[in-house]
Amino acid sequence: MIQLIRGFKDILPEESALWQHIENTARALFEDFGFREIRPPVLEKTELFKRSIGEDTDIVEKEMYTFPDRKGDLLTLRPEATASVVRSYIQHKMYAADPIRKMYTIGPMFRRERPQKGRYRQFYQINAEVFGEASPYIDAQLIFMLVSLFEKLSVTDSNVHINSLGCPECRPDFRKALSELLESRKKQLCEDCIRRSERNPLRVLDCKVPSCREAVSDAPSIIDYLCPACAAHFDTVQEMLVKQNVRFEVDKRLVRGLDYYTRTTFEIQTGALGAQSAVAGGGRYDGLVEALGGPSQPAIGFAIGLDRLVEIVTLNQESLAKHPMVFIAALGDEGIRNAWLWSNDLCMAGIRTEVDFSGRSLKSLMKRADKVNASYVMIVGESELKEGSVVLRDMKTKEQHTFSMDNLVENLKTFLYQ
Ligand code: AMP
Repeated sequence: MIQLIRGFKDILPEESALWQHIENTARALFEDFGFREIRPPVLEKTELFKRSIGEDTDIVEKEMYTFPDRKGDLLTLRPEATASVVRSYIQHKMYAADPIRKMYTIGPMFRRERPQKGRYRQFYQINAEVFGEASPYIDAQLIFMLVSLFEKLSVTDSNVHINSLGCPECRPDFRKALSELLESRKKQLCEDCIRRSERNPLRVLDCKVPSCREAVSDAPSIIDYLCPACAAHFDTVQEMLVKQNVRFEVDKRLVRGLDYYTRTTFEIQTGALGAQSAVAGGGRYDGLVEALGGPSQPAIGFAIGLDRLVEIVTLNQESLAKHPMVFIAALGDEGIRNAWLWSNDLCMAGIRTEVDFSGRSLKSLMKRADKVNASYVMIVGESELKEGSVVLRDMKTKEQHTFSMDNLVENLKTFLYQ
């Protein structure tokens, strides 16, 4: 038997109601905040991710699914969505008509990480991106929208962490101070961090290896190095979050794994998922549009890990389960033929209907109606057909109603919707 690829998974019909509920809640909320959906492809030129995410990141160094297509072009299954949305913003000159664009997208991402609970090689993200707005109010609003989504989904065990990564003006000073510290503690660092400390020292702050954590425990805080403009921006973000009663903590170690972030970065973390504590993350990337060949336009966005969100949404799954409203128990050829026609009409009228075409006995049909948890069973037996009527049985109250076969669907509609 051919099995799934390691790190990939099926989202089974029993689970998909919850996925849909989360996706629909996000769509409705984001659209109320002025976002519109964009659907970029899952395959892009490898160069796009190298240039945006950064060559010295784990994603680009070791996690991308990259292969040459038949003509030899290097292609990559997207490891994240922001790069594609930025490419699209530039390619379609969206900035020309109106530089301010709010877009969201939902779909699969691919990273060849070591699979474990909450970490898959194909996983899903809900992304939201805002282009053309440099104001800190947008940062705070985006965080508020994200937190509101979690609230709407009744997620309780989650915390907002925020930080500022400064800008090309102030970050180099911090980088230098951090590099000096790392140089003096090289012996404590893991192999990856020794390499990172030269090329991308901020990433060391993110390392989970205990000796590395220890080595940077008293590292300088980037917040102390912010230039006046970055400091004022970060202050306003915090001030607005406080005004809106969004609880957060400033986390100076929050640097995130991707190179393109500037100023505000944020993450939603949870204690409910063990080692994989980040459920959502994002930040400003004011330099990325220009770096990818577009005009200088500020931008900010976030990505929610949908697989992880599904695991922590504690909604009552049963309330989302979909059961047939009507189950037609049809006996004999003529009964089944009629049931087939009626069920099509009922389905088209928005009444979830199932029929069993097997021609089994009434007893086993009733058993099946129970199993699929139908609200009503419509019995179409030989005696009913002779009388030109059907019986509708309420499975909860056990009450039975007789309906004439004339105008049946219309009458059922009226009865069921009343
Ligand atoms: P990132 O694009 O790395 O900032 O990730 C954003 C969010 O996507 C994270 O907070 C996770 O919730 C989720 N995520 C990232 N990688 C994985 C993965 N391999 N499996 C499941 N979820 C992931």
